[in-house]
This record gives sequence, C-alpha cells and structure tokens, in this order.
Amino acid sequence: MDTKYLYINTIGCQMNHYDSDQIAAVLRPLEYQMTPLMEMADLIIVNTCAIREKAEQKVFSFLGRLADIKRSKPDLLIGVGGCVAQQEGAGIMERMGHVDLVFGTSAISRLPRLIEQIESERCQVIDVDMSEGIDEFDFVGNESDNGEVTRFVTIMQGCDNFCSYCVVPYVRGRETSRESGKIINEIRTLVKAGVREVTLLGQNVNSYGKKEGLLTFSRLLELVNEVDGLLRIKFTTSHPKDLSKDLMFAFKDLEKLCKHIHLPVQSGSNRVLEMMNRKYTRELYLEKVKKLRTICPEIAITSDIIVGFPGETKHDFEQTLELIKEVRFDGLFAFKYSDRPNVTATRLPEKISEQEKRERLKEVLDLQDYYTTQANEALVGSEEKILVEGYSKKQKVVDLHGGRQNFQWTGRTSTNKIVNFVQGDGGISGDEIMAGRLVSIRIMKAFSHSLWGEPVKATNIPLGLRGEKTHVA
Ligand code: SAM
Ligand code: SF4
Repeated sequence: MDTKYLYINTIGCQMNHYDSDQIAAVLRPLEYQMTPLMEMADLIIVNTCAIREKAEQKVFSFLGRLADIKRSKPDLLIGVGGCVAQQEGAGIMERMGHVDLVFGTSAISRLPRLIEQIESERCQVIDVDMSEGIDEFDFVGNESDNGEVTRFVTIMQGCDNFCSYCVVPYVRGRETSRESGKIINEIRTLVKAGVREVTLLGQNVNSYGKKEGLLTFSRLLELVNEVDGLLRIKFTTSHPKDLSKDLMFAFKDLEKLCKHIHLPVQSGSNRVLEMMNRKYTRELYLEKVKKLRTICPEIAITSDIIVGFPGETKHDFEQTLELIKEVRFDGLFAFKYSDRPNVTATRLPEKISEQEKRERLKEVLDLQDYYTTQANEALVGSEEKILVEGYSKKQKVVDLHGGRQNFQWTGRTSTNKIVNFVQGDGGISGDEIMAGRLVSIRIMKAFSHSLWGEPVKATNIPLGLRGEKTHVA
C-alpha cells in the first residue's frame, strides 16, 4: 500500500489535542502518515471546538479556505471532527459541499472504516452517533514516540454539570470515566517512549469514577504517582464544588503531583453563579482556596472567568474584580460570554452589549496582569526545579561564551510557570541539559508571562531525551 499523508488542524482545548493524537494513531494502519505540510496532504482533518462562538468561526473560515485547494486537487479528502462536527452534523456539508466526512466526538474508533468507505465509494459520510459512549481503544503507542516529554491522558469524557452557558454536555455527552487499569497502562506505555510528565484530562476530573463507583480521583493520583520513570503529574479541570479534602492533601503528600490547580470560578457574584448553575457560592470558593493554601502553601491557583453573562450588572462585575483581588490568582483565562446552541443561557434576556463585554474583559485582564507579574517577581532569587521540555519556541542560538553556540531551553516549574534559560549559563555543562530532565534553575528575571534563569544543577538520573527532537511547538 502507498503511503498517504494526513494533515490535522486542531482548533481547541487539550481534549482536542489528545483526540488528534488518537486520530493519527487509528489511521496509521491505513498507511496514513502525519505531515506538517498541508500542501502534501491526501487527507485533511479539522478537529474542532464549539465552546465559544469565536472558535466555531475559526473552523468555518479554515474550511472555506480548503474549497480552493480541493478544486485544484480533487482527490483530496476533507474530514471535520470534534465538537462542531457533533453539534452541526449534516449542517456542515450543507454549508461546505467540499467536505467528505463529518465525524462526532464518539466516532474516532470508527474512523478507519469511515475513511475506507469514502475512499472506495467516493461518497460523503456523516457519523455523529454518541450511543457507544467513551471510546475505549488502548493507546497504540506509535504516536507517543514523537520526542515529547509531556503528554495528555484522557481519564474521563463528557460532563453532567450542565452549566447554563456551556455546550460540553451536548457535544461530548454524559460524564463517563475510563477504567483506572487502562489509564495506568497508557501512562506506562508513554513513559517507556520517553514521556516524563502526564496531564490527566477531563471536564471535571475531581468527580472521576463517582458515577461508575470506580476509585476516587485522589486514589487514581496515588496509582499514577507509583508509575516508575514518571516525574510529574498534572490534571485539568477541577470543578470547585467537587474539590475534596483528600485532593487538597494529595498536593502535599504526592511528590510527583505538580503544585498547581486550575479551579475555574467563572464569576464572583452569587447571583450570577446561580444563573450559571455552578452549584457553589463565592464564599464556598474562597473557603476552599483558603484551606488549599493552608494545606499546601506553595500551590499556584489559576482560574477561568466569563464576563458579560446575561444580566450581569456593574455590581456583579465589581464582585468578580473583588474576588480576583482577594484570591490573587497566579494566572487567569477570561472570556466574553457568547451564546451557544441548545444551552439555557442563550434564552436568557438582558444580553450585555459587545462593547460592554470588551471593556469588562480588558478590566479583568489588566487587573490580573498585575497579580501574574507579582507572582512571577516573587520567585526572583529562588531556586526552582524545572522539567525541561525542549528548545524554546523563540529558539535562537545565543553566543555568550567565546564563540560557542548556546541553546535556549524551556521548561516549567511545578507551579506551571514557564522558565527559559541558556545551557552555557550557570555552573553545569551543556551535556547535562536534556528534554525530560529535572534541572534546578536560579530565577534571575521575571516577565509578565515567563521567567528567565540560570541552571544550577541537573538530576543525574539517566532519564531524558536529546533535545534535538524536542522543539516545543
Ligand atoms: N469544565 C471546566 C469548568 O467547569 O470550568 C471548563 C470547561 S470549558 C472547556 C473552558 C472555559 O470556557 C470555561 O471554564 C468557561 O470559562 C469558558 N466558556 C464555556 N462556555 C462559554 C461561553 N458560552 N461563553 C464564554 N465562555 C465560555
Ligand atoms: Fe461545561 Fe460546566 Fe461541565 Fe465545565 S462543568 S464542562 S463549564 S458544563
């Protein structure tokens, strides 16, 4: 069979990126090889996100551009997967006649069959059936040998929370957890391929296993912590209502668990939280943050905020600003509210104008910039353990030491802060720096979104990959 080339454009969150790896893996037996060059592709797949209107617009604008390419290359196959595919189904083909395949969030394991059908019959195919629930194919490992040291592992899919603004329960289905044995096996496979850090993924990871009566999330973390060769564990996302004491203690007790939690608050106003159906109050959120910081003082806390939810008054918005000041988050993602299909908030009156949403967004981001910079500046002078991820994105060869070439590397602290450094700086030789190694770095400078440091010492355990393969995308 001739090799064919597959190009995947992933538009969306970590979940979509994980799914894209799975797509590449299931299509490998059909001789599809990944290419970074869209012009080379025989099959282009757009893996989509529907969470906000802007993400969806991006999908349709990319698909629009593919129409010209298909005209000059009629054998090219075009597939649309992910949340927009699940949400719009046949509507995508009505708008974009050049699309050959629309497949939903539960159809990845059926993808080889669907592609073969299109290749032999040259027909258009739609598969948005969600009845089979979570896709349970074991990670085949081919795609894991790509030189990356940090990877995502899905532990659950879907969501049962039905926050009134959110499309996830409609496009990803009900919450379903994967069996712990399969998760641990997948992590062991990844570690064998050189992975040193995993991020456990789910829309509400701290309710892992509850519905199925499986292990608790804290117990799952303990099992992951025992995987030999793994250096770090991260997870996202946690719902404040399900943040248990056990999980708080896990940050203190499990040495591989990174000291960072993303805990989306969405709003600081109880009135808005109730309209959002978030099932906690501002007071409960603040109490949990306080407990967490008492148990694990070093923990970094980040969050999500939605501004301009229907009916959000100036007073409600002020309360969000006050909450940001009180918590002093390490970082924040803030979004302008957007109406989504099916969700109940879309039917609420008192929509906030675009202009007002823009202004509120700017106010939140400006305020948070101050706290992010402060949190970064507090680290100047300290020694931080960094997991080296690879050469820095802004790779430049820095010539500091008598004409020798020195590479700029990047990694993260346990608190998820990006640290860049140059291998010839500090007291250790360049040979000791490798992607996948823990290196102690003295923090020299703080910027708004990263830190700059000098290496002090590297762990001498023979773990790590050569950096040549590991440019961070
Ligand atoms: N499951 C997570 C939680 O409970 O917070 C996050 C899920 S969602 C993929 C990521 C973020 O997108 C949310 O935390 C929220 O801030 C934002 N978001 C979701 N729906 C939105 C909407 N309709 N408009 C604006 N932002 C939205
Ligand atoms: Fe969406 Fe709420 Fe579920 Fe998060 S918890 S995925 S915001 S419905």
